[in-house]
Amino acid sequence: MFISGLKKYLFDFYILFRFFISVIKRYGFIKGVSNILLYFKHKQNLFRDLPNRYIKKGSFIFVVPDVPPVNTKDFIKYLINDLALQLNKQKPTLLFSIICISSVCPYKCRYCYNISSHTKEQQLSFEVIIKTIEELIKLGVKNIYLSGGEPMMRFEVIIEILKKFSNQGIGFWLVTTGWGLDKEKAITLENLGLRGVMISLDDVVPYRINNIKGKAAFENAVKAIKAASETNLVVVADCVVHKDMLKVENFEAYISFAGSIGVDFINLYAPRIKEDMANEELRNLSVSELRQIGYLAKQNQTLSKYLQLPLAYSPDEFESRRGCLGGEVFFYIGPDGSVKACPFKEKVIGNVKNKNIADIINEYRSSNEKEYCAVNSLLVQEKWD
Ligand code: SF4
Repeated sequence: MFISGLKKYLFDFYILFRFFISVIKRYGFIKGVSNILLYFKHKQNLFRDLPNRYIKKGSFIFVVPDVPPVNTKDFIKYLINDLALQLNKQKPTLLFSIICISSVCPYKCRYCYNISSHTKEQQLSFEVIIKTIEELIKLGVKNIYLSGGEPMMRFEVIIEILKKFSNQGIGFWLVTTGWGLDKEKAITLENLGLRGVMISLDDVVPYRINNIKGKAAFENAVKAIKAASETNLVVVADCVVHKDMLKVENFEAYISFAGSIGVDFINLYAPRIKEDMANEELRNLSVSELRQIGYLAKQNQTLSKYLQLPLAYSPDEFESRRGCLGGEVFFYIGPDGSVKACPFKEKVIGNVKNKNIADIINEYRSSNEKEYCAVNSLLVQEKWD
């Protein structure tokens, strides 16, 4: 369900009020008011990025999947941390983590960032997964993305994770191709507290997806989206953008199709294709093409014609303005246990099979190492605004 118009403005006012009170509590009245004024003048204040609608699922209201629901204390904490980050250069707090619980996958996606780690047998034990999640929660992580390979190939492990960490206020998400996800399984996952699913869907043209990923990938993704949309799970479509999607009419067709099958949010990702994996359908984009993704997302977030359609975001556009978030607000644990600041960074900074994730993260953070993916390097060189 979408929240827009007057209802949304009233809700924005409520968020602002809670933010105001929390800042005053933290800094005192005079310093608090001055900080709020400075934050609102700041080019990067998060209120500037608010879209024209929110999405309500069950008792939660979402503005974007990666941050806590807007009607929770954690969201206000997130805003306060951002104020401290922008005004006082305080270190960002960890928001989420991606953990690849499966190294097995039925597909061979051309753009997969960990295809070289796929194996026939699972590589991470259940015990290591649980211990790593426990430590991430202690470090303050609020959202955990269970990815793969294909995580649904370890359905029983997903169930055990959800049972183990239920009622801890953590948002668990499934990052999946949609393989094996039917309505019955979606209901089971919802009942165990899964917050949402992120299902890969790059296009409305089946052969394009099946050509890039493998047989029946499009049909399976659509079935899974429809199944999940019949529950209160948040449904996100992860879309790796190809050049034809940059045309407004194709983008609109994609958004309409996604809306018609029950998608709530769309993550628009720039492709990061190794040269030998690129083909006519999918290749890396130029700076102006990357800018176009940000433009389309902004149109989607602000124009009234999209009010009843899924909300689209471009993480690349956001990071081109705010800086690379890998290793700042999130970490990535690959199917073989190797840890990176982001799946698109080359450097492995440790392995959870032989070291605690907390120690790996602490060592990384004190080393001050910087590494950027090609997309971010391109976009930061040529600022978008
Ligand atoms: S390396 Fe690139 S994709 Fe990864 S967090 Fe940084 S900017 Fe984003």
